[in-house]
Amino acid sequence: MILTDPSQADKKIKSKILNSVTKIINSKQYILGKSVKSFESEFSKFCGSKYAIGVNSGTDALILSLMAIDTKYGDEIIIPSHSASGTATAVVAVGAKPIFVDIDPDSFLIDIIDLKKKITKKTKVIIPVHLYGQSCGITKILEIANKNKIKIIEDCAQAHGTKFKNTHVGNFGVTGCFSFYPTKNLGAIGDGGCVITNNKVIYEKIKILRDFGWKKRFNSSIKGLNSRLDEIQAAILRIKLRRLNQYNLKRKKIASKYFKKFSKHKYVKTPKLLNYSNHTFHQFVIKVPRNSRNKLIDFCKKKKILLGIHYPIPLHNQKAFNKFKKQNLKNVEKISREIISLPIFPYLAENKQNKIIKEIKEFFK
Ligand SMILES: *Cc1c(COP(=O)(O)O)cnc(C)c1O
Repeated sequence: MILTDPSQADKKIKSKILNSVTKIINSKQYILGKSVKSFESEFSKFCGSKYAIGVNSGTDALILSLMAIDTKYGDEIIIPSHSASGTATAVVAVGAKPIFVDIDPDSFLIDIIDLKKKITKKTKVIIPVHLYGQSCGITKILEIANKNKIKIIEDCAQAHGTKFKNTHVGNFGVTGCFSFYPTKNLGAIGDGGCVITNNKVIYEKIKILRDFGWKKRFNSSIKGLNSRLDEIQAAILRIKLRRLNQYNLKRKKIASKYFKKFSKHKYVKTPKLLNYSNHTFHQFVIKVPRNSRNKLIDFCKKKKILLGIHYPIPLHNQKAFNKFKKQNLKNVEKISREIISLPIFPYLAENKQNKIIKEIKEFFK
């Protein structure tokens, strides 16, 4: 039993997917055609944003956003140390300096008190990450950013369908950046990403930036990238977007069962739910005592259950990023030894989930 399996959902809509691919071949338009345009309009409607721009990946969505606000070499960019590699990769890709912030050990989200301490004159941007499907305390972060004339770019790569109160995440910052990596709540069959924004100038700029900086074909007016969402992935995403709410409900149902079975467990700690956020459960992450974490993973592996760790090494301790500043981020370092991601995906069978629960309980007996 694997941690996540998007093919379970894709199999159910395979004929629709194949039809859409055939249509694209017949249309002869493979790049920046009708599917990308339609997907952009449907995704922005889903998020309640004015604009959406389809790009190559979630990492590129962040890079293009940083480029759009003229991030320069040496600018400081604040990010949580507990996130996917893509968050930090985007920062260093534009020559900026990642400044790592600790997290709240129960919600796993960026710690506001530590964030405030990390702001300097050089701080250009804060990138809050709505990790595992739960929204950060975004209005508080926005308030801090506004007071200090700092911009916000939201990393929404794990938060398709996630709202802060009644507003979809990604609408608070200059941009919201999404990934359609296959295992995300909305996943392509390959790479893909999207930037949402409510700012027309930023929208126009990112549209140019993703396509060589071309205002007109073959004439780069600004320094850009090749980072377009392709027609086939856009067509597949359109089909899956129509089912996203239903997929998220299935994740929620699985999560409810994990909560029910583990919320009073002596050793398993379930994640903290924040009352201002709906949780779309990209991951269901528990904490167990440090000395039993790897033993539990091995025990389950022998029973053919694969558990995950998101993420085993804090970003500030990874070689590519750690040259920037020696830091002591005690919550991230502590929880990175305690966390386990339990299988959660839309078509995880009930009997399989029951087995996962049973074996974990068995381990702690
Ligand atoms: C997946 C992910 C990214 C990167 O997205 P890609 O499409 O893989 O480039 C960035 N940030 C977070 C939080 C992610 O989960």
